[in-house]
Amino acid sequence: QDSGKYKGMIEDCCCDYESVDSVNGEVLHPLLQELVTTPFFRYFKAKLWCDCPFWPDDGMCRLRDCSVCECPENEFPEPFKKPFRRGLSADDLMCQEGKPQAAVDRTLDSRAFRGWIETDNPWTNDDETDNGELTYVNLLLNPERYTGYAGSSARRIWDAVYSENCPKYASGEICQEKKVLYKLISGLHSSISIHIAADYLLDESTNKWGQNLELMYDRVLRYPDRVRNLYFTFLFVLRAMTKAADYLEQAEYDTGNNTEDLKTQSLVRQLLYNPKLQAACPLPFDEAKLWQGQSGPELKQQIQKQFRNISALMDCVGCEKCRLWGKLQVLGLGTALKILFSVDGQNQPSESPQLQRNEVIALVNLLNRLSESVKYVREQGPSIEKIMERQ
Ligand code: FAD
Repeated sequence: QDSGKYKGMIEDCCCDYESVDSVNGEVLHPLLQELVTTPFFRYFKAKLWCDCPFWPDDGMCRLRDCSVCECPENEFPEPFKKPFRRGLSADDLMCQEGKPQAAVDRTLDSRAFRGWIETDNPWTNDDETDNGELTYVNLLLNPERYTGYAGSSARRIWDAVYSENCPKYASGEICQEKKVLYKLISGLHSSISIHIAADYLLDESTNKWGQNLELMYDRVLRYPDRVRNLYFTFLFVLRAMTKAADYLEQAEYDTGNNTEDLKTQSLVRQLLYNPKLQAACPLPFDEAKLWQGQSGPELKQQIQKQFRNISALMDCVGCEKCRLWGKLQVLGLGTALKILFSVDGQNQPSESPQLQRNEVIALVNLLNRLSESVKYVREQGPSIEKIMERQ
């Protein structure tokens, strides 16, 4: 297949487009697709009813495709359930938005996720140790796709993200670190747009879903920069995963289902110590090059604060499902930043900071989303561009 205009080394990374495309298609994408369906990785804990610190609620939550199905207790694997709660009604199986009976079993963490510590992430706004008001969401039932969330509410979030926190760097910008933050956000934005266009409500009256090629082209493909930033973000997160390989390999993936948990562990191992990945792209991103100058520590603090603002902005996303994926993916990026640029900077190159279960779930699901987007752009991009450019 033709890799189109994306050839040679990926800017600011250590691998080329062709190798990344081939290792993603052959190895990473299939492994990640399987990994995110395992019980450990498919439940994400999020605070969905959060007050936006910047603007009043704009009521966008009422859009039908915006709502999130929380997990009724009976959906969890055996050990997650409360022993005294039996005889669930059919209602329990339905979308539980806003119902008190959808309340989360908060003892679940201590029983089912043994071995995971509670620790805050300095790169994100949410206090990850605060378990109040958290909701478990089955990500497989709430795919990231078109929701109808648009207009001024969506626009002001992206505007705030870009203009307040990571203004597009002027060409020739010398501060590599600021450039990295911009590219991470832009790459994530590309990936979100690709998922919206790939799974779009084409006809509301017949509820027909499918690809919206025009949208894909207009929002991402016609801007080579946005595609490049997507690859950059993918490699950045991949590097964080491989840097934390030893930590992730030894982590507990215990959900009480032995067969599934062994599969999870094996998939994690296959992903992290993959010979094809090591041959194709041994160092996806070289974090050692950053924060080297005199102002390094100060700059790191400044960028950390900016990223925390971006994380806080996710509480203002007026559509619940978009907020869920926004929060998950920003936490995933925050986890990658934490792994690569650990707070105290004392880490040895091969060491990883302590991670929370939710951070690891966010990291893996983010990597999967980015891997899907990269695969999509690689396989469909050139033909979509041809169709659109002919019109
Ligand atoms: P937007 O995507 O809103 O872009 C706004 C502006 O940002 C553009 O005009 C352009 O100047 C700039 N821009 C766009 N892409 C990039 C890029 N890759 N790099 C740099 N600059 C860029 N909608 C859904 O249907 N489903 C979802 O799951 C969903 N999740 C969302 C999550 C978050 C956190 C946010 C803030 C919004 C989400 N939305 C979602 C809304 C969606 O992202 C768009 O905002 C909406 O579809 C309107 O699109 P738009 O054409 O106005 O451009």
